[in-house]
Amino acid sequence: MALSLYNTMSSQVEEFQTLRDQEVRMYACGPTVYDYGHIGNFRTFIAVDLLQRFLRQSGYKVRYVMNITDLDDKIIRNAASEGVSVQQYTAKYEKAFLEDAAMIGIEQPVLVRATEHIAEMADFVTRLVEKGIAYRTDDGSYYFRIASFPRYGRLSKKDFSGMLDGARVDVDEYDKDSARDFALWKAPKPGEASWDTSVGPGRPGWHLECSVMSMQELGESFDLHAGGEDLVFPHHENEIAQSESLTGKTFARFWFHVRFLLVEGEKMSKSLGNFYTLRDLVLKGHKPSSIRYLLASVPYRNQLNFTFDGLKQAAVSVERLRNFRQRLTTGNFLPGSNPQMQALAAETIDRMRTALDDDLNTAQAQAAIFEMVRTVNSAFDAGEIKKDDTAPLLAALEKFDEIFAVLNDDDSSKMKQVFDWAPSEGREQDISAELREAVQSGQFSDANIEKKIAEMGAARNARNFKLSDTLRAELITAGIIIENTKDGVRWRRK
Ligand code: AMP
Ligand code: ZN
Repeated sequence: MALSLYNTMSSQVEEFQTLRDQEVRMYACGPTVYDYGHIGNFRTFIAVDLLQRFLRQSGYKVRYVMNITDLDDKIIRNAASEGVSVQQYTAKYEKAFLEDAAMIGIEQPVLVRATEHIAEMADFVTRLVEKGIAYRTDDGSYYFRIASFPRYGRLSKKDFSGMLDGARVDVDEYDKDSARDFALWKAPKPGEASWDTSVGPGRPGWHLECSVMSMQELGESFDLHAGGEDLVFPHHENEIAQSESLTGKTFARFWFHVRFLLVEGEKMSKSLGNFYTLRDLVLKGHKPSSIRYLLASVPYRNQLNFTFDGLKQAAVSVERLRNFRQRLTTGNFLPGSNPQMQALAAETIDRMRTALDDDLNTAQAQAAIFEMVRTVNSAFDAGEIKKDDTAPLLAALEKFDEIFAVLNDDDSSKMKQVFDWAPSEGREQDISAELREAVQSGQFSDANIEKKIAEMGAARNARNFKLSDTLRAELITAGIIIENTKDGVRWRRK
């Protein structure tokens, strides 16, 4: 089976096809770096990360570009009110975004920044003016004439046939029902950042930024354009209008939109007190891997209702997978192989692929791996796993992790970064006891723990119980749980 994806443009699930053989060129609208990223943002970025990982796993060569919106109305306003340059204002949040994205297992796309493409944006405006599609107003701003683009509204399924020719809007984000000529280029205002360019002084509109950067990096027509569902109108509608009226070609073939995340059943908002940045959750002691697992667990077109119960559940799931892997890698097995286990591993890989091919059904893929874990765990207990079964079972787990990326236990060191960052923002009081404990236990690396356990065993064999007790106490204090099982000593972090 081949990958099928929902295309907002056709309102249908379609077979995914690329314009060039086995090569995917895709673009995601990236963060506006005016604040720390919240879990809604990361829900979207993780969904796109899963997509690009799955495309690679399916054998495509993927060129994935994401922009950093380091210039828009909000940034200009905030930088002006703090009396700092746009660059100074955004540098901090861009750095934070990149750290957060790495923390939550997002593979870094090719990054492009709006402020580094201003000249090309001005040039784009000139070309639209030459075609009679853009016009200049008295103050030196430029607008896109939407009456010149009859297909306007096709992505968002809005009928703008009765629209008012010449009505204008100069803000980046505007009302869902207003079809107005939108600003491509904004004339300077006192106290605002501005650039001197071939179309005069000023700054680009947000929509223009993405058209220019995506086409520059990926060509006039590319395979897929992604973002959260709020971007369908006006942002993506405007990107299409600008790009297609200039090139006469289809801008992006697939439009991939991620449904908004809710928190405890409500829209996330600062006023409701249910607004969480990624760092807020880590300060509370939650592991990046649990957050990633939870955000990946609901297929991208379904509503994801974020709850703290769900987050705890996700932590348990990740722990089970890690323990399972440890059991497979450290257990003692009899030689030989069990055909049932070999078949189960192959079947699980198949089921995961079928699930993800079906419009990225991440929930089904997770269900498939857990079914394997359950079956194998019972077989373990019954002594039915043989030496040669571990490799195919581990391979299935590996395939899962190529997409979900939660097995590597590097949570503590990542949490330590947030722990170390908190004082710089005056947030020491938000460091929870759980975070403190996680950071402490993290000072014991996996290799360190294994070494101490081996030393404990050696001490016991030498009947040096005092030393073995001391070592055990050290590990327990650091939150390491040690169990003696028939497969040998097993350990896990609390
Ligand atoms: P912004 O930084 O506001 O430009 O948003 C970055 C990305 O996050 C965009 O693709 C938005 O559509 C997406 N986004 C914002 N809020 C949410 C949310 N609550 N759930 C899912 N995605 C979101
Ligand atoms: Zn964009």
